[in-house]
Order: sequence, then C-alpha cells, then structure tokens
Amino acid sequence: MKGQGAISYNELAQIIEHYQREHHILPAKEWFEKASKGSLAKNEVCLTFDDALLCQYEVALPVLEAFDLTAFWFVYSSVITGGTENLEIYRKFRTVCFDNIDHFYQSFFRMVASSQYNETVERSLKIFFADQYLSQFPFYTEEDKRFRFVRDMALGVKAYNEILDLMIQDHKIDLQDFTNDLWMKDQHVVELHSKDHLIGLHSHTHPTALASLAAEDQRSEYQTNYDTLTKLLCAAPVSMSHPCNSYNDDTIQILNDLEIQLGFRSNMKEHPLTSLEFPREDHANIMERIAA
Ligand SMILES: [Zn+2]
Repeated sequence: MKGQGAISYNELAQIIEHYQREHHILPAKEWFEKASKGSLAKNEVCLTFDDALLCQYEVALPVLEAFDLTAFWFVYSSVITGGTENLEIYRKFRTVCFDNIDHFYQSFFRMVASSQYNETVERSLKIFFADQYLSQFPFYTEEDKRFRFVRDMALGVKAYNEILDLMIQDHKIDLQDFTNDLWMKDQHVVELHSKDHLIGLHSHTHPTALASLAAEDQRSEYQTNYDTLTKLLCAAPVSMSHPCNSYNDDTIQILNDLEIQLGFRSNMKEHPLTSLEFPREDHANIMERIAA
C-alpha cells in the first residue's frame, strides 16, 4: 500500500542522504542521552516515526539498518493490542478502493445525499465559498475544500464516521482482513526495542484533539499507553510525541508524573519551551525542499 504520506525505500534513503549533508543524524539512544544532558550540537538530529504503522516497519527499518541508524518510534497502543483506529482505516479505504480522490469525493457526496444528513449539509453548503475556505492551503482543489468543509463544518466527527462506515459496508469490506496490514503487531515493537530503537508514548487511542479532553481522560490515555508499553517491553518508556500536536498544561503535568523525559511536537513552528516540546520537521517538507 502506498497511502498519502507514505514514502518508499528510495525516498527515505534520499531524505537521510540529503539531511546528512548539513546535519549529523544520531542513533536514537545517543540523541536521547545528549538531549537529556542538554549537550546536543546544533546540527545533531534524530529520526522519529509516529503511529506504529506496519509500512514504516517494512519500508523504513531496512533503510535505517542500511545506514546503521536507529530511530524513535511513537506507538499508540490500542492498535498493537488488537484495536483499530478510524482515521487510518479511512485513509487506506480512500487510497486503495478508488482510482483517484475525485472518485472518492463523488461516492462520498452520493452517500451524504442519501443519508439523514442531506438537509443539514445542503443548508451549510450555502455558506461555503471555495475561494475563502482554507485559503491558507493554496494546493487544495475546490473539491478538496468542499469535502473538508462538509466533513469538518457540516457533519462533524460522529456523522462523518457514520457516512464512511456506510461506504465501507457498501464495498463489502471485511474490516478484520482490511486492517490486518495497517499496524505493527506487538512482536514488531518488541523487535525494534531489542534492536536498540527507542519506543515512546503517543497516547492509547490517538485522539485528534487530546488537549480538548478533560485532564482525567488525558491521564487515562497516557497511563494506558504507558502501562501497555512497559508490560510489553519490560522497560518504562522515557520519550513521547504529541498526537496531532495536541497538548496543554494538563498533558505536560501528566507526562511529568509518568517521568517522561523528552517529548516532540509535530512542527518546527515554535522553539522548544520545555524538554517535552522538541520541534520536528515533517518528511513531506523535506521532500519538497529536495525537489525544489
Ligand atoms: Zn500520530
């Protein structure tokens, strides 16, 4: 599978070679040691992978081994203990069940039109203006914007999931079979750990807006994540990355209570405020610079 955001062996090798011209990519443990002591040189960086995707294990691990590197892998534990997560299922559905994204949109809008949400959506579309909505993303087509508007502004998470589940049913997809190659299994995570990679927290179920959860719900997300990984690896995690970059003061307090020493944001926008907010560059941005 080659989903949106997935990269090939060669692309990752290219990123590493490109980065190594001006940076020193350190193995995860070495980077961790230096970062904890505050002794990182400006050009010393590390590699991180979020979400425990099987394609990362299959594609990225061989590249890392060819370069003699190890990385951080941030694992949301629901999926390695037999659970599933809708975002990734929908991503795969969009990618493998339709020839192109516009065919997906057509099918999506047909399903909306035949659903109980048709009137609500029609009404909200009256205030949709493609040239104004998401204008900060110039690469979105009008259809991209219409889809996002309906998904986020007219339907909301619950109704959107309902529509997507109906589409998946229509395609007579066996979910168990369909999700079997999406995420790593626990033995993959154990293997990475035994090969000196660092396994860190990424919440249990990967809420897209963790910061909007009550403190006790956030705590349960990270505590379950922490307990699951500790039991699996017989070692307590000491690093983490924030799912969808969503966190607040409660999150930081919870991570401190769990004695997590290093955390990563998902962008370069702000300077690290604390050791739980290291910036990261997305591979898509690096690819763009290589292509430029
Ligand atoms: Zn994530």
